[in-house]
Amino acid sequence: MNSLHIKNGRVIDPANNADEIRDLVILNGKIAAAGTSAPAKLETIDATGKVVSPGLIDLHVHLREPGRSDKETIETGTRCAARGGFTSVVCMPNTTPAADNTGTIAFIKQRAAEVGCVNVFPAGAITKELKGEELASIGSLKKAGVVAITDDGHCVQNNELMRRAVEYAKMFDLPVMDHCQDYNLAGDGVAHEGYWSVTLGLRGWPAVAEDVIVARNILLAELADWYIHCQHVSSARSVELIREAKKRGVKITAEACPHHFTLTDERLKDYDTNYKMNPPLRSERDRVAVIEGLADDTIDCIASDHAPHCNYEKEVEFDLAPFGIIGLETELALSLDLVHKNILSLPQLIKKFTANPASLLRLAKGTLAAGADADITIIDTNLEWVYDVQQSASKSRNSPFHGWNLRGKAIMTIVGGKIVWRES
Ligand SMILES: [Zn+2]
Repeated sequence: MNSLHIKNGRVIDPANNADEIRDLVILNGKIAAAGTSAPAKLETIDATGKVVSPGLIDLHVHLREPGRSDKETIETGTRCAARGGFTSVVCMPNTTPAADNTGTIAFIKQRAAEVGCVNVFPAGAITKELKGEELASIGSLKKAGVVAITDDGHCVQNNELMRRAVEYAKMFDLPVMDHCQDYNLAGDGVAHEGYWSVTLGLRGWPAVAEDVIVARNILLAELADWYIHCQHVSSARSVELIREAKKRGVKITAEACPHHFTLTDERLKDYDTNYKMNPPLRSERDRVAVIEGLADDTIDCIASDHAPHCNYEKEVEFDLAPFGIIGLETELALSLDLVHKNILSLPQLIKKFTANPASLLRLAKGTLAAGADADITIIDTNLEWVYDVQQSASKSRNSPFHGWNLRGKAIMTIVGGKIVWRES
């Protein structure tokens, strides 16, 4: 049961500094020690010419359950993750009710155990109902099993409250993740403040609204000597601030999303709401700075910010549409583009999807060490394919990448030794 023999793949395991052609044997859902000979009866997978990676982790997804199962459910969202090569996802707490209490966390964990085809690690809220007014019961959330706290979708504006959140989180050994948005500076902006927002007559969401909160988080992380993770970093100045803070040893980490390093605000010219996200698509200068941040490891992780919305919600005027796009199925290919362009090495990219998020969240995942859970992604880095959003496993269709020619794909996703997705 849950045993496999993966033959002749390029095994890349950044947690153990390994990159070699070898067999990988899985016995009873766990990785066997290198060199273990496989029992003859095992199912054999020929991985010649393919990459065998620790199962990819996406630390920023919205599964929408409970409350908005018309957009996504734990079942459909995790199927989508499996197709994208992800064996673990961290789901955001902006559900209905919010994941600011142990009951909601217990519900998510139970549903994930019943119908989830990949591991689901819930994030809890920083504040009650994500309102930014009163701290959630962080200790109880930790006991209920959250791996981090965040008000994602919202941002705690009160700096004193945020300071206390970070101090409490430290007591409970939980990283704090933050959606960096100053409400007054961002106002009711819908597009990056710059040439295109002015040209198109869209209200601007200036980069400085992100930078101010990134700077605040650096100062609070330094003060509390504790981890704050800046979610979906999109601006050049934010990258610069984080780079400088890391040099000083501040416990600040960051993630970037494929849409922010692939697209710019120029795409808004058709007012297509599938280009509306928060933070918004920014300028070419910002896009390049995010890529530089990934290249020099200022940015630790890549995340999708998978944010499903119903068609009827997105098919409205640009100003009225909700922010966000689905991303789990296109994330790996869009990221591999940086490898094809020799900006990142393949092990470096895989580290941002495995060892880095695992270490940030203290998950016993993201490694192919002997005895670890057999969560594995087999990747064909050169497979050329076209993304057809109508075939998505998500309940939603809000992707700007429909019809794109992509290169590189997860061809098999294995969770605990069980194949949960294979390219047919
Ligand atoms: Zn967010």
